[in-house]
Order: sequence, then C-alpha cells, then structure tokens
Amino acid sequence: MNILVLNCGSSSLKFQIIETDLDIIEKNEDHQKAKGLVERIGGQSLVSLQSTGKPPVKQALPLRDHRVALDHVIRWIISADSQVPGIRSLADIHAVGHRVVHGAEKFTKSVVIDETVIRGIEDCIDLAPLHNPANLKGIYAARDLLGAGVPQVAVFDTGFHSTMPETSYLYALPYQLYRRHKIRRYGFHGTSHRYVAYRYRQLTGKDLENTNIITLHLGNGCSACAIKGGVSVDTSMGLTPLEGLVMGTRGGDIDPSIIEFLSHKEAMSLNEIDAMLNKQSGLLGLSGLTNDMRDLLAEEHEHQDRRAKLAIDIFCLRVKKYIGAYLAEMGGADSIVFTGGIGENSPQVRQRICAGLSNLGIEIDEQANDQLVGGKEGEMGAADGKIKLYVIPTNEELLIARDTVRSVRNAPRRW
Ligand code: AMP
Repeated sequence: MNILVLNCGSSSLKFQIIETDLDIIEKNEDHQKAKGLVERIGGQSLVSLQSTGKPPVKQALPLRDHRVALDHVIRWIISADSQVPGIRSLADIHAVGHRVVHGAEKFTKSVVIDETVIRGIEDCIDLAPLHNPANLKGIYAARDLLGAGVPQVAVFDTGFHSTMPETSYLYALPYQLYRRHKIRRYGFHGTSHRYVAYRYRQLTGKDLENTNIITLHLGNGCSACAIKGGVSVDTSMGLTPLEGLVMGTRGGDIDPSIIEFLSHKEAMSLNEIDAMLNKQSGLLGLSGLTNDMRDLLAEEHEHQDRRAKLAIDIFCLRVKKYIGAYLAEMGGADSIVFTGGIGENSPQVRQRICAGLSNLGIEIDEQANDQLVGGKEGEMGAADGKIKLYVIPTNEELLIARDTVRSVRNAPRRW
C-alpha cells in the first residue's frame, strides 16, 4: 500500500509517501518514495517537495490554508513531473496516517478515523490547544481531497505512554483534579520512543519483555523515557510538552511558584507567562542567542561565549538527572539510546551528558561516539561499560505508516 503520512502543525505540513504492507513490514522492506514540507501556511508559503533519490523542488507561493497546501502537495505527488514511482492518480494513494499529538486517556493505540474518533480528538483540544486543531485540519483536508473511501488512521504521540503506572502519571495534587479534569502526566514523543525501542530490539535481538532501556529524544523538543519490559513506565514530558528536559525554547522543570511570582514582579498575564515558558526559555532563554544547539556549540567553541556554555551545561545536567532518576526507578537499565537532531548528531553533547557517570556503569567509547553522526546507527559505549550506549536515528513516519497499514488491515500491533 502507498501510505501518505501527514504531520500538520499550526502553519506547517510535513509529509512522506511510504510503501509498506504486512508482508513488507515482516521483511523490513518498507520504501520511502517521497517527502516534503510546506511552511508558513496562510502567507507566502515555502514548499519543498522531493521524490526519493531526486533533487528537491523548492517553491514559494501563497497557500491559504492546510486544505490548499495539501491539495498542492497531492497534485505534485500524482503529477508525471514528480516521478514518484507507482503513483499517477489519487487511486494510487491507499491510506493516510496522521500524527496526532494528544489522545489523552481516550486513545491508547492508533485507530482508524471515523466521526467518533474525530469527536474524541476534538475533546482533547483543551489539553493541546496548539496541536490538535492543526492535526484535525490535516484530517479534514485529506478526507475532502481523497474522499471518504480512503481510510485515515490517527497515531497519537501520547499513545506509547499509556502503559505508565499511576505512580508515574499522577501529580501530587488534590486527587479530585485528576478525577474532574484528568490532570496527569501523558507524555509525548511516544512514536519516537516506541520506534527507537523497536529498532533497539532489532539491533540486539532482545525480545519485548527484556527491553529495559532509557531513551533520550533530544531535538528542538526533548524528552526522556523509561522503558521496562518493552513498555513506557515513565517519561519526562507531562500534561503538556513543557515539563522535563531543557529544550530549544521550553525550559522544562521549574518551581511552579515562579508563575505567581512573575505575575507580580513583571505584571505579566498568564498568557504572557505561558508564551515565555514555551517560546522564550530553554536554550534560547539561557543563552540569549539561539534555540539551535549547533549554533550554541559553535558560539562556545569560537567565541568562548559564557552563556552559550552555560545553556549547554544546564541542558546536559538536566539529562543526567533524568538518567539517574530512571535508573533508580527501574532498578538499572541495559542501555541508553540517543535520538533526535541533537542526540543523533552531536558527539559532544552525548559526551557531556555521559561524563562522570562511570560509577553508574556509563562510559563512552570516544572513537565510536565521534563516528555516529548524520543518521548513522550504532553502539558507542566502552567495552567495559555496564550500561550499553546506542545512537538510533528516529523514524516516526515509518512507524505511522506501519500503524496505518496494521489498523486498516485489522492486524494486531506487535510492538
Ligand atoms: P530536531 O528537532 O530533532 O530536528 O532537532 C533540532 C536540533 O538538533 C537543533 O537544536 C539543532 O541544532 C540540533 N542539531 C542538528 N544537527 C546538529 C549537530 N551536528 N550538532 C549539534 N546539534 C545539532
């Protein structure tokens, strides 16, 4: 089946075409045929469209909304110009898989989208006011353009974490708040944590029950996940993606009293504080320079910028703390797996996170660490380190495509 994988943000649309099916999944022979990105939907949009193995087509043109943007993408996919193999008409797109950010307690697994599912995703808007409406726009647009006969599947960022025990997901707040409003930890990046845990099993030959690892998704958004017996037992993001690690523009864990304090001292409204915590904090807030780790490393190296160094040090210390916490929580782990733009590409950040942890059995092989950049996958722990260290590039789109096939074909999910 040719699966259109869609990831819609508030003003962006990312897509891939992946050919896969139940037998293809068994043989691990899924095939990415095309990918692309539309940014700044609603204004002068920037479009990048690429058939696998061909140079990307770049365009700038006004695309009013997600429907118009998706229409543009689909016209390109089925055009002769695009040279996407095996796709010449709408009938060659067999199903659509959507990344949906928040499924709350309603959706613990990927589901075929019908009216009830759409209402369920709408019900979760309170918990993800920026993300779920954008995901719904993608769902409506795909249904409009491809017709109701083409099945669509929702794959939730929160789904993988639905196995967390109450002890991990409840906040120590009055219990009625959980009962009344479902205030709890949900966790995000679930598709990424689930994918790297699956690849880890493929690489090591471990079975699900013996997968005891800590996965670190370090990108512009960052989260850690404790995986025991193959399932998520704890994760650093919470009710929203704001909690936990230091991220590009999000600060992660803070003392909640800061919010009240700021509202007095700086006369800030709750909305302003929320925007500050989400958009002006983290690496950007600490450094005063940028949210981009690559640029911060360069500033530190080339200009010995004190605050760039401080931001990176605080970022790494926070990851260390979560590693320690999850090792204690799980009674040890076999491996730690790095993924995400920073986790996959920065030997230096990986080294700084692991530095000083040899007492816990965490020791880097510097040569191996330096080799693992630019999408390479492999092991980077020293031979005598008790806890193995891996870099595994994430591939959320592949997992969404596979879940779509399994859901459409009514096949059980095995991982
Ligand atoms: P993502 O959100 O997963 O695309 O990751 C984006 C983050 O990865 C940004 O902070 C980038 O600066 C960072 N990143 C990408 N390549 C590198 C690199 N070679 N070294 C350090 N950070 C990188």
